Amino acid sequence: MSDTKTTGSCQCGAVTYEITGDPMFAAHCCCNSCKKASGADHITAAFYMDDQIELKGEVASFSMTADSGATSTRHFCPTCGSRLYSTNSSRAGVKGIQVGTMDNPTNIEPRAVVYSKDRNAWDSFNDALPQFEKMPPPPPAK
Ligand SMILES: [Zn+2]
Ligand SMILES: [Zn+2]
Repeated sequence: MSDTKTTGSCQCGAVTYEITGDPMFAAHCCCNSCKKASGADHITAAFYMDDQIELKGEVASFSMTADSGATSTRHFCPTCGSRLYSTNSSRAGVKGIQVGTMDNPTNIEPRAVVYSKDRNAWDSFNDALPQFEKMPPPPPAK
């Protein structure tokens, strides 16, 4: 594991974080839930273990039931609304950080497009990336 430091914050700066090391996985998500939550045509998330992340500031959260039946919760700044990360009851101890909130996302390599069934036809990606209709099985541990 590298000791790369990645910092980030919400738009107003009330919530900040520092991450140590590389993500276990990063992907673009086109699901309708991410679209509604972000207001964008897709989001990019990088997944880390909780102990890699030092978070400062209070976040608000919103939970819903994912396709899988698990509870998916997104966490956002209650002041400016920036969506910072998501968690899933089926992946305890893991946070999916919104890459758009990072200051220096230099070690992020998205490796898949997930929920391509909800993808807008005009939203284009690197053709080399595998696309999954829904959520693929978890990647093998590094
Ligand atoms: Zn904020
Ligand atoms: Zn999504």
